[in-house]
Amino acid sequence: MRYLRKITLAQLPTPLHGMPGFRRALDFGGSIHIKRDDLTGLAAGGNKSRKLEYLTGDAVEKGADTLITAGGLQSNHCLQTAAAARKLGFDCHLVLGGKKPGQINGNLFLDLLAGASVHYTDRAGREKKMRELAEALREEGRHPYVIPVGGSNATGTVGYVMAMDELQRQLGLTGIPCDRIIVASSSGGTLAGMTLGARYCGFEGKITGISIDREKTGKHAFPPELAALGNQTAELLELDIRLTPEDFDLEYGYLGEGYGVVGENERKAIMMLAQTEGIFVGPVYTGRALGAMIDCIRKGKWKDENLLFWHTGDTAALFAYTGEL
Ligand SMILES: *Cc1c(COP(=O)(O)O)cnc(C)c1O
Repeated sequence: MRYLRKITLAQLPTPLHGMPGFRRALDFGGSIHIKRDDLTGLAAGGNKSRKLEYLTGDAVEKGADTLITAGGLQSNHCLQTAAAARKLGFDCHLVLGGKKPGQINGNLFLDLLAGASVHYTDRAGREKKMRELAEALREEGRHPYVIPVGGSNATGTVGYVMAMDELQRQLGLTGIPCDRIIVASSSGGTLAGMTLGARYCGFEGKITGISIDREKTGKHAFPPELAALGNQTAELLELDIRLTPEDFDLEYGYLGEGYGVVGENERKAIMMLAQTEGIFVGPVYTGRALGAMIDCIRKGKWKDENLLFWHTGDTAALFAYTGEL
């Protein structure tokens, strides 16, 4: 494996522990553990910290002084990028899809506390706006570094290849069994990195991605995209592994009313985990993914398997949903 420059932003390894109260409440025959990437320790925590360790490493290598990225109004990725930028002495520009809301709360509030420059644009215009910002900054003699939505390019995805190595070590040290990982999936870097990492480090369990916003059918299918991202990452790392779309297991049945819309699935999951374990999943990603896991367990889908829910963050976004919860 090729060495890539990395900047430490996260407190690793993140905790891995059981959820006895949650498991009892579900009356489930197998074990249920949780991997706490909500506790990465950068801003409000979350999976983007791992990607940003490699993305900022690359930015430093390239002599950048400003980070530019994009996401939704309550993007966890944008908040973590803003926090990473400030920690490393970079400026930060965030392109957020949507109109400036009347009330500034949740992650957006924290973006502003961190002093990020926020630009509002429609969702479709985000890429163009990032390019324009980069261009304007270059003309001023600055050195911008553009990070794609969700940090899901090959460099960012390396963070989750390494995360699987971390998990394998933890499983080995603790003897915790794991037949299946369940994780929220959206821009794909997390799932692609984990699937590649599983092959790299010999993890033999399954990995099930819960699609947060991608439809099963449509113009662009998700698994080929995930395989391509995994393969670009393998090439970057000089690994001899190649993935195919069939390597990805995805559940598409939990899209609800769409991205960022909290429904019964999310509401119940958030409260069930809070009330059995004192742990909070978020409204957009982890609440949806945990709700999917609960539903699959109740339908007898993964009977007696040893499950691991990978908590990818999203907690601070809860504060933007107080009216809906
Ligand atoms: C971004 C995000 C995800 C999805 O990760 P991708 O790599 O974009 O698929 C899951 N959970 C949370 C909390 C996120 O912020």
